[in-house]
Amino acid sequence: MKAVVHSEHGGPEVLRYTEVAEPKINAAEVLVRVRACALNHLDLWVRHGMPGITIPMPHILGSDIAGEVARVGELVTRVKVGQKVLLAPGIACGQCAACSAGNDNRCRRYTIFGYMVDGGCAEYVRSPEANVIPIPGDLSFDEAAAVPLVFLSAWHMLFGRAALQPGEDVLVLGAGSGVGSAAIQIAKLAGARVIATAGSDAKLKKAKELGADEVIHHGKQNISDEVKRLTERRGVDVVVEHVGEATWDMSMASLASSGRLVTCGATTGYEAKLDLRHLFGRQLTILGSYMGSRAELYAVLKLIGQRKLRAVIDRTLPLAQCAHAHELLEQREQFGKIVLNP
Ligand SMILES: [Zn+2]
Repeated sequence: MKAVVHSEHGGPEVLRYTEVAEPKINAAEVLVRVRACALNHLDLWVRHGMPGITIPMPHILGSDIAGEVARVGELVTRVKVGQKVLLAPGIACGQCAACSAGNDNRCRRYTIFGYMVDGGCAEYVRSPEANVIPIPGDLSFDEAAAVPLVFLSAWHMLFGRAALQPGEDVLVLGAGSGVGSAAIQIAKLAGARVIATAGSDAKLKKAKELGADEVIHHGKQNISDEVKRLTERRGVDVVVEHVGEATWDMSMASLASSGRLVTCGATTGYEAKLDLRHLFGRQLTILGSYMGSRAELYAVLKLIGQRKLRAVIDRTLPLAQCAHAHELLEQREQFGKIVLNP
């Protein structure tokens, strides 16, 4: 099969579009013919390499996968050949205390397609049966691939971690990012007032189309000053962070008393400073969030199928242009997801 493979860490140039052996499935697994695979910042981190983490090589990236079931192992009962499916991106043991409690994203053996196992930047991918989910509603393969990781992450941040309530004010950073474009929609659907940031007028316009009540141009305006102005100096109840170093101080300064900052990433760097006087004096809460549970993914997909939430696709490209797609994502020019088609 054709696949994008890398055997070393580095820039986009380490990605090779080449011929590799089709994956072999075991009795409990499913072989999926990939029709669409969406990129995430995780792809960039894994390609670059992370200190202390050994990625199995040669490696295939790609966490957000949609396609058709090509083959099933003899122990597979629920999934049928020919079904149009998407794959839950998180893979867990399914047996430990965390998994049994429905917190599969806290499983010690938790990983993600394209992280510790091969992902969807290929014509075929193997998957545990539990990860295979029928595509909801009348979604295309491209739309189905654009949903899972970012909507799951945004849902878990807002509800699982920050316990968002109707009527609260939410600041969503990076409206053009996958998590940002999902968080705007989810927070709005939950009855929150949404303030979103982006770095261009075109992106701010799209953020408003997704439901943002107010927008801040982070290149021209100071985020926390604008938040104070928009909230009559009170600040927001919840900040959705995933940018990291570049925005951390402004995110903290944007919080109302007793506000919650929830973060799922650090795309501009992970060294953040914290003024402890603000943390205790204003009774702030900082919450880490990583992916979300399978149950939360099903909740998101129900609303996606009803078109109450929608996939945001910047563009689609042939899988052969995967390295170019990585460059685009690194330049942060996109609004929403970049989807590859094998
Ligand atoms: Zn487990």
